[in-house]
Amino acid sequence: MSDRFIYLDHAATTALDPRVLDAMIPYFTIEYGNASSIYTLGRHAMQAIDRSREDVAELLHCRPTEVAFVGCGSESDNLAIKGMAFASQKKGKHLITSSIEHHAVLHTCQYLERFGFKTTYLPVDEYGCVNPDDVARSITEQTVLVSVMYANNEVGTIEPIAEIGHICRAKKVPFHVDAVQAGGALPLDVAALNVDLLSLSAHKFYGPKGMGILYVRQGMRILPQLQGGSQERGRRAGTENVAGIVGTATALRLAQEELPQVTLRITVLRNRLIEGILTIPRSRLTGHPTHRLPNNASFCFEGVEGESILLNLDLLGVAASTGSACTSGSVDPSHVLIALGLPPQWSHGSLRLTLGKENTEQDVDAVITMLPGIIEKLRSLAL
Ligand code: PLP
Repeated sequence: MSDRFIYLDHAATTALDPRVLDAMIPYFTIEYGNASSIYTLGRHAMQAIDRSREDVAELLHCRPTEVAFVGCGSESDNLAIKGMAFASQKKGKHLITSSIEHHAVLHTCQYLERFGFKTTYLPVDEYGCVNPDDVARSITEQTVLVSVMYANNEVGTIEPIAEIGHICRAKKVPFHVDAVQAGGALPLDVAALNVDLLSLSAHKFYGPKGMGILYVRQGMRILPQLQGGSQERGRRAGTENVAGIVGTATALRLAQEELPQVTLRITVLRNRLIEGILTIPRSRLTGHPTHRLPNNASFCFEGVEGESILLNLDLLGVAASTGSACTSGSVDPSHVLIALGLPPQWSHGSLRLTLGKENTEQDVDAVITMLPGIIEKLRSLAL
């Protein structure tokens, strides 16, 4: 067992940054007003929301009126896709997405298929890249939305968003981007990315859980998915989570301000991790070799099961993740690993290590030291 707990699952969630907590606390205890109330306490809450919205707008290079605060990344994806689909169904009922999206996108498209929508699921290459030409070829007169993720949550591949956005803009088809994994890792200039809708989740960048952002470009009409009050300019009913909103804006500012230094440091750690782990026999990197999230190191090991690797790492004090999950007694690789075309003897043994700003070289070296023994042990047990 290593001396300390080593957390290498930052794509799953992150700890709240203490500076974010400090910013949030007054809005739980002192400034607890309802932002819809017209007396001073309520106005303070509304002012805090307005300031947060302005902060987020500055970071996304958009207008404050284009920023909606919602309940999580999944809700942001749902609101973008259902909201746009239901608002545009008179024009057509065709959606385009990729086959490696998060379930918040894929299951939303499948849900819309019950209402007569048809979805084109674009293939990806062996690295998980969507080909922009496939997007161009798939757009028809009926297409009301294209949704492609900024970076994949399992294998870390960064998609050619600006290029896809350019194609959608030329064909006048709204473009949604699930940027949940990119919030703390990549630049988020919505104008440079040519996106119309963009989803973020605060708990992925050291913000609070249960908070999301949806950027909606001016002129895009989406149907709200929650009925009630007129909060968030009628896009999302419900009393605002003021502390959560303040925390989200604070976390996004810190993440984007610290991005250059954190990226430099984390990329070095990630490359060290990849180099060390690929010395294990019959191992391979999944996702794009260079065009990947700076914190993502994901692998497959032939002839082992991902969940067994995780349990063994856990015993040694390391938290990681796998895309190969045990369902009803057999190991099923995720839809992402299947879309990458990995053969089953490889895709069953996937491991995702995602670094965060508190990880050190010692953490990386500890994992590089312990993993070969774990893989060897599991392979010998499988014989
Ligand atoms: N989209 C992607 C790419 C994700 O990785 C996740 C969460 O892991 C989500 C959406 C959902 O975000 P949330 O957990 O805030 O609902």
